[in-house]
Amino acid sequence: MAFSTHVHVESGAKSWSLPTGLFINNAFIPSVTGSKFDTIDPSTGDVITQVFQAGKEDVDIAVTAAQKALATWQSIPAAERGKCLLKLADLIEQNSTELAELESLDNGKTVKDAIGDVQGVVEVYRYYAGWTDKIAGQTLDIDPKLHTYTRVEPLGVVGQIIPWNYPLMMQAWKLAPALACGNTIVMKTSEKTPLSGLKVAELIAKAGFPPGVVNILSGFGTPCGEAIARHRDIAKIAFTGSTAVGRKIMIMAAESNLKKVTLELGGKSPNIVFDDADLDQAVEACFGGIFENMGQNCCAGSRVFVQAGIYDLFVEKFRQKMSQAKLGHPRDPTATMGPLVDAQQFNSVSSYISIGVKEGATLAYGGKRQGTKGFFLEPALFTDVTDSMRIYQEEIFGPVACVVKFETEEEVLKKANATSYGLAAAVHTNDLRRAVRMEKGMKAGNVWVNCYNLTLPQLPFGGFKQSGIGRELGEYGLREYTQVKSVVMNL
Ligand code: NAD
Repeated sequence: MAFSTHVHVESGAKSWSLPTGLFINNAFIPSVTGSKFDTIDPSTGDVITQVFQAGKEDVDIAVTAAQKALATWQSIPAAERGKCLLKLADLIEQNSTELAELESLDNGKTVKDAIGDVQGVVEVYRYYAGWTDKIAGQTLDIDPKLHTYTRVEPLGVVGQIIPWNYPLMMQAWKLAPALACGNTIVMKTSEKTPLSGLKVAELIAKAGFPPGVVNILSGFGTPCGEAIARHRDIAKIAFTGSTAVGRKIMIMAAESNLKKVTLELGGKSPNIVFDDADLDQAVEACFGGIFENMGQNCCAGSRVFVQAGIYDLFVEKFRQKMSQAKLGHPRDPTATMGPLVDAQQFNSVSSYISIGVKEGATLAYGGKRQGTKGFFLEPALFTDVTDSMRIYQEEIFGPVACVVKFETEEEVLKKANATSYGLAAAVHTNDLRRAVRMEKGMKAGNVWVNCYNLTLPQLPFGGFKQSGIGRELGEYGLREYTQVKSVVMNL
């Protein structure tokens, strides 16, 4: 049977030639069974196109390709590997508008936001390109009769599973450090947003990576993700997604071959505003903190704590800011927020809004569906929220903010940390000593002061507690893709 692994897609005035096959050995191929799945446009609910769906046999084929490519990839001088990453960064930059528009089409985020994401993606590939020839062991002079040193080696074939909220960015955070260290990769993108990852695959083939070094599969958690997590020839699995699935990944890794695991999971992050803060700046940061990417952000500052003296004024300004937000088509340049990613996400977030109301919280703003097509939901603000409410405890992963009044530093720190998550936290204050005290007290992997959501390629990113294991980005991100060998030579 002849299968086409490319399609032509039109949306509005835009058109794309898109790969739809599984990317293995630098080529787009059909899945073994030929099965495909729909990917939809969140602004209309219509099918954009179908892509091939990877199953267990496809994972086996991709792993074999990645295994074969290891020797070639590792025989290339480190600086040359860096050049492949730099070339990929250049190609992504040259195609940034097309990639951003595609990301927006598949995910629903505004094109403006997607352009920002692509710029971040380019920086990450460039940052890790610079590391390829700087990954070093140590020589240790321990005993004159011995020559003792450490060698830092890649792990081998790495499995990577990414979510749908920042498809291009999550792809870059995983591919770049793993490649810089000399690993080869089998990556599964999210079934909700497969398109931009495949477009990057096209650029990977052009950037000079040998066939099999990067393999990208579109598919579902079951069977594709599970086949990766359970594969005995995969040395490590790097996962970003929900805490529930992260737990399963760890079990599958343990039960198969004890592969190494890093997990970037969920959050219920506190955003704390003291009455000495610059109020307008704090309102801005708290607004972006929860509503960026329609709240579909692992770091979402979904619990906003405001000190009693400024509480009423803060809520008024926050509501005002919310009323200025423009929910609209992701390609509308005046829109500041787009739809949620799909019907499932829309229903899940909407049900939390109903739960909040039933629990007795006050829905102080928004929370209603907009339009009849697509998955547009007004950002929502809850006040009169108590600690036991589900909207306060659970990750909603949507544009729903809970604002809570507090009196003292001690009280708010206790509340902020009273969660099983520990991904991010922020403090807004003009008191430097207080900022430092709070930062030290926060049980979170990322702490922001007078800002929010600032992630930089040079700084490690990851979670405390049940928000994750391991780190991405920075030098720490490299360590997760290497293993160290100790060598003792008897001279
Ligand atoms: P999800 O856990 O449902 O899915 C994540 C990925 O895992 C997808 O590719 C999915 O297909 C795959 N998957 C699902 N079930 C699987 C299974 N049984 N075996 C193997 N793979 C499986 O999460 P999501 O809805 O895509 O993303 C939202 C979640 O991701 C939120 O909880 C969010 O906080 C988290 N997230 C965390 C970070 C971070 O860096 N900490 C970043 C983005 C998103």
